[in-house]
Amino acid sequence: MSKLPRRDFLRLAALGMGSVVLNRFLAACAPRTTPSAAPTNPPLPTSTSVPTATSAPTATQSPEPTPASTSHLSLETETVLLNSGYNMPIIGLGTFRLSDSQCENSAYHLLLYGGRLIDTTRIYGNEAAVGRAIQRAIDEGLVTREEIFVTTKMWTADFNDGDNAIEASLERLGLDYIDLMILHHSQPGSDVEAYQAMERAVGTGKLRSIGLSNFYTPEDFDRLANATTITPALLQNETHLYHQSMQMKDHLEQYGTVFEGWYPLGGRGQTQILFNDETVVSIAEAHDKTSAQIILRWHLQAGNIAIPGSSNPDHILENLSIFDFELSQDEMDRLTMLERNERFSDY
Ligand code: NAD
Repeated sequence: MSKLPRRDFLRLAALGMGSVVLNRFLAACAPRTTPSAAPTNPPLPTSTSVPTATSAPTATQSPEPTPASTSHLSLETETVLLNSGYNMPIIGLGTFRLSDSQCENSAYHLLLYGGRLIDTTRIYGNEAAVGRAIQRAIDEGLVTREEIFVTTKMWTADFNDGDNAIEASLERLGLDYIDLMILHHSQPGSDVEAYQAMERAVGTGKLRSIGLSNFYTPEDFDRLANATTITPALLQNETHLYHQSMQMKDHLEQYGTVFEGWYPLGGRGQTQILFNDETVVSIAEAHDKTSAQIILRWHLQAGNIAIPGSSNPDHILENLSIFDFELSQDEMDRLTMLERNERFSDY
């Protein structure tokens, strides 16, 4: 408890956070005895076809070649079981456009406040900053490595040199293994080769889970999946209230591939569009929550892992504080009705 900085208590009080958040924060400050969101399960072997099993593996279960259907996030454990056999936290921190120092500070505060999922990539130039934040949190006894889940991505220019790209990310992060590496973009012609490099790294234990980002059609996803051996554990695409990605999410069900949304709040420069949407505002008022919290809670209840980006510790704490309320079916329906199939990004 001596690690509890007074200014953070004051920040909690000023934010009017509920007991769940306070407990989360206190837990983050207390010495840990058991991991809360650690990938404790043994990895399952690879699958060469669409998985069919529905039972979740456990730490004691022997590996089976049929990964579980894992698209259902647990709001109790705040994790989802990936088809690789590892658990992944369902809310975390994105680091797009964060400078080196902002990124280190944000990632550290995420860990301080009990968050465990960090999304980075070589093209953001801040993998090393994530590594420093992790090391600091470990050194201070806030977390163990096993409790943290780090995602990074392989950039398209590296697709022909995937083995070295993985080594370079490991080195910049200062980690022995990466929890999840995803291809940053679909790139027919070289993405299969890049994915195969990630498969090899799963074999050597350097990567635990692998997946994809920016694959926007079922056909494109199938193209990659059919040409490779390990079923993608996750797909990360632009997803928010105005672009809800229902077709892709439905398609992923058969693979047991989970879905993660980037731009969960609309992305920098566009967040006010979603925050001020009158449906969001009215639901936020009903729950005495912020628009950001309503949107992030919608993501989780809709089955999307969310990685909101922020350089503001208050917002990082706010974004983690979405487990002490629930959106009703009517509220979920009203938010689903906001779908416009409208992306904010053009890539
Ligand atoms: P986002 O939708 O998370 O929005 C970020 C913006 O929201 C920032 O301006 C931030 O200051 C603001 N914000 C965050 N929390 C807030 C709060 N509680 N109240 C008010 N404002 C708040 O957009 P993003 O960060 O670009 O996307 C999320 C993450 O997704 C990225 O950081 C990155 O890790 C990942 N991403 C991946 C890709 C890809 O191609 N795979 C592309 C873009 C982003």
